[in-house]
Amino acid sequence: MGGTPSTHKMILENGKRFDGRALDQLRPISIQAGVLKRADGSAYVEWGENKVLAAVYGPREVHPRHMQNPARAIVQARYNMASFSVSERKRPGPDRRSQELTKIISEALEAVVFVEQYPRTTVDVYMEVLQADAGTRCAGLTAASVALADAGIPMRDLVPAVASGKVEGRVVCDLNREEDNCGEADLPMAILPRTGEFLLLQMDGHLTYDELMQAMEYNFKALKVIYELQKEALRKKYATAQLEEPVVLPKPEEAPAAEPAHGEFHEGAGVPPEEGAHEPEEPPLDGPEDHEGGA
Ligand code: ADP
Repeated sequence: MGGTPSTHKMILENGKRFDGRALDQLRPISIQAGVLKRADGSAYVEWGENKVLAAVYGPREVHPRHMQNPARAIVQARYNMASFSVSERKRPGPDRRSQELTKIISEALEAVVFVEQYPRTTVDVYMEVLQADAGTRCAGLTAASVALADAGIPMRDLVPAVASGKVEGRVVCDLNREEDNCGEADLPMAILPRTGEFLLLQMDGHLTYDELMQAMEYNFKALKVIYELQKEALRKKYATAQLEEPVVLPKPEEAPAAEPAHGEFHEGAGVPPEEGAHEPEEPPLDGPEDHEGGA
């Protein structure tokens, strides 16, 4: 949130926003689980122009040992914005903003992991913002909880997050960068959907009571949608590929001719069959029309 009054109209006359969305619309979101081979769990989120990768390691023994908690695991998240993620090169490494986000995301995740089950260990969660366009803490948290579930870490629930706000006097759902930088308020929020418990609630700027209620209503509705996407991403990863109907194998002449590897000689390749040579028989499988209704 820049807090500076906007210099150009971002909400068009017909009530549409600069990027064509209605006031109550989310940006397009896609979530993929299990995208990294070497992490215990991972997720990739594209959210409008945001691109965020999350990876989980653990539970593993805490080092240094004085950080160990004999009663439970600790969740150590790290939010990092890549140098190339914003329009002007960002200085690499932690800064105050990323330290703050690391802290609030760690706390939110620690509240959902069954930490009591893994004393003396740490669960490490890395969030790498590859491209930023506002709402990266929410995209990071959304990705991180999917990555934790992908790692098989026992959790109370997934954690969807979203930030609505106010631009040019209007409450809007899911702020993009222009709206965030020039808007009047920003309300990032994350909940535990099963209980409705708040895991993250921040606010920058000014909202009246009614505007706050409206922004929260947008957030709650958006969180439901995001939660379904998270579950779908995990379901997709573990979906079983199956044949639901008998499938006819291609006939020999329909099968693509195998190209001999370069420089390799195959007996009979390219040589027409001798006269009287045995013609291949039709395969015994019938076409799908013969199986109508007989799956
Ligand atoms: P969030 O990404 O969670 O909305 P902020 O409100 O702090 O967090 O940031 C809003 C947006 O401003 C970011 O998503 C990013 O596009 C931009 N931004 C943040 N920090 C920087 C930075 N150091 N340099 C350039 N742009 C930044």
